[in-house]
Amino acid sequence: MSLIFIGTVALDSMESPYGKADMIPGGSALYGSLAASYFTDQVKLVAVIGGDFPKSGLEMIQDHHINIEGLQIKPQEKSFYWSGKYHENMNNRDTLITDLNVLANFDPIIPESYQDCEYLMLGNLTPQIQIKVIERIHKRPKLIVMDTMNYWMDSELEALLKVIQMVDVLTINDEESRQLSGEYSLAKAAKKILTMGPKYLVIKKGEHGALLFSKEEVFIAPGLPLEEVYDPTGAGDSFAGGFIGYIAKMQDTSFATLKKAIIHGSAMGSFCVENFGPDSLQNLSQEDIAARVKEFISLTTFAV
Ligand code: AMP
Repeated sequence: MSLIFIGTVALDSMESPYGKADMIPGGSALYGSLAASYFTDQVKLVAVIGGDFPKSGLEMIQDHHINIEGLQIKPQEKSFYWSGKYHENMNNRDTLITDLNVLANFDPIIPESYQDCEYLMLGNLTPQIQIKVIERIHKRPKLIVMDTMNYWMDSELEALLKVIQMVDVLTINDEESRQLSGEYSLAKAAKKILTMGPKYLVIKKGEHGALLFSKEEVFIAPGLPLEEVYDPTGAGDSFAGGFIGYIAKMQDTSFATLKKAIIHGSAMGSFCVENFGPDSLQNLSQEDIAARVKEFISLTTFAV
């Protein structure tokens, strides 16, 4: 049940109608590994940070017993920096700045103690690095899940298509699935993307939930109607962490388990948006998660 999570560990600045935060810890691997840590104590992080990454961010990771042998610290360099702005409709966000900084020359190291990994989460980052990680794990994991975003579709499409061919599950949002496939209908987009390599596709629709496609089946997780959404940053990564964390916990990759995994992923995403930055992922209990999953079940269960 050991799980490698690779992605960015970043400094983020964001603004929403509910407030703003400046240079706080974030990144796909920070949100994702925190979310996954609620499902397995075997989360192994692969990432790089600069000397400016705050001690409080590292403590957050260590408090969750995440293995950081694969986290490189480059004291002379700056951490990956991202800033974004949300509008009244929180499904829309503008990326204002993406500074790769230390990510630009990141050469991921897979420590020997990580080689027993059964589940691999390629969080959102440079596709070339995602490929290197797959190549550096000696025995192919049971399941490789990959997340990405439009930034890499615009700048690194060729490498992105190569890594997509190598994975079992791809998670992207609805607009990105349209961009990647050239199809507007999500059903058509899914059909096309499932010819590009992955066996399963998850299309995230922000507050409207998520869809899971295989070639034969479709499953839908609803969006939880939350009254307060403060900051959607990291929701997709928390979703990914909950999704693969649940699969690692159950040690099963059947479609039936993947369906439950997207509900657990959605539950983790829903916690994430309730506060600025990764704060709301810090002190959850198993009871909190079980209660949230129950809300998802009652939203979708009905008798005929
Ligand atoms: P999400 O809201 O789940 O899409 O993820 C937001 C997080 O992704 C932020 O904490 C950012 O630091 C990180 N991020 C933003 N752009 C990128 C990118 N191009 N590659 C990797 N991580 C990114």
